[in-house]
Amino acid sequence: MSTRNNRLMRSIQHTPEATERTRVGLIGDPVAHSFSPRLQQAAFDALGIPAHYELWHTPASQLLERVRALCSKEYLGANVTIPHKQAVIHLLDKIDPLAERIGAVNTIVHRNDYLYGYNTDALGLLYALREQGLGTLQPDGQVSLKGHTALLLGAGGAARGAAFALASAGVERLIIFNRHLERAQLLAADVQQNYDGAVFSLNDANFLIPHSSSIIINATPVGMHEDISPLEPEVLARFDSDTFVYDMIYNPTQSYLLCQASIMGLRNANGLSMLLHQGALAFTHWTGEQAPLNIMRATLI
Ligand code: NAP
Repeated sequence: MSTRNNRLMRSIQHTPEATERTRVGLIGDPVAHSFSPRLQQAAFDALGIPAHYELWHTPASQLLERVRALCSKEYLGANVTIPHKQAVIHLLDKIDPLAERIGAVNTIVHRNDYLYGYNTDALGLLYALREQGLGTLQPDGQVSLKGHTALLLGAGGAARGAAFALASAGVERLIIFNRHLERAQLLAADVQQNYDGAVFSLNDANFLIPHSSSIIINATPVGMHEDISPLEPEVLARFDSDTFVYDMIYNPTQSYLLCQASIMGLRNANGLSMLLHQGALAFTHWTGEQAPLNIMRATLI
């Protein structure tokens, strides 16, 4: 398994002072749709950790103020979601090497008076895909996606974690499809630095070549608020029957993209499994404790 996949695993550290802090929450805009409070609160309660998980709706103009507040001694840290995963990096004291390479942070830990940034989306996605029966689990616990082509929709914070994870899992080729082509090109160039497979960037679906054994991953919010898809049904219909469609969106539980995939008989799953695994990894960063995965999973049913 590649060194980069190993680095994903090594980024977990312990936080012995975690139980002294009681406030943790989700920074983003929007946040009301999030299942993170129920997921994380169940885990804190199960381990008897007196922390409370909150929703912190934070427009871009208030991001600095919100992150600064985390330096107060009652804060354990935070999760970061749309659209702040890239912008928040510059507001933190220390960035984990993996998160730095990815260029996106979704977990902040308040430790020793410093704010540390981590990325758990990357490994969380790989665990989620494995749970859906994709790829193989190597003897060292790493996930391999050799033989697959990944079509990644989006090039924002979550997509950056996904792109690095998919490359580290050894996909044959990675196609990044994004509304703004420059952003896809930038991400492609970053991933290509340590990846032997081919990376393509596109913003026109007419140029999309459907490869067999494709994994299509939606890392855009398109479909969260309206019945629209980030990939036209006519384009999706061109893919082979062995294609798997994964939508990071989990609320609604079946996005328009997943409805279309089901109608076409394609295997598919929503983002609940990724939410679970990225959340479990974040929990370990905050507390130094192994996350009670089954208890957390039960909150999502
Ligand atoms: P982000 O950093 O703001 O990136 C958003 C991406 O979506 C960008 O690539 C953007 O394209 C694209 N996009 C936004 N609106 C669009 C539109 N109307 N049409 C086409 N493309 C559009 O957000 P993020 O943090 O990456 O989050 C993306 C999604 O993933 C959110 O729905 C989030 O909830 C979800 N997510 C789920 C999990 C999970 O655990 N299940 C984890 C992480 C994220 P441009 O670059 O062209 O602007």
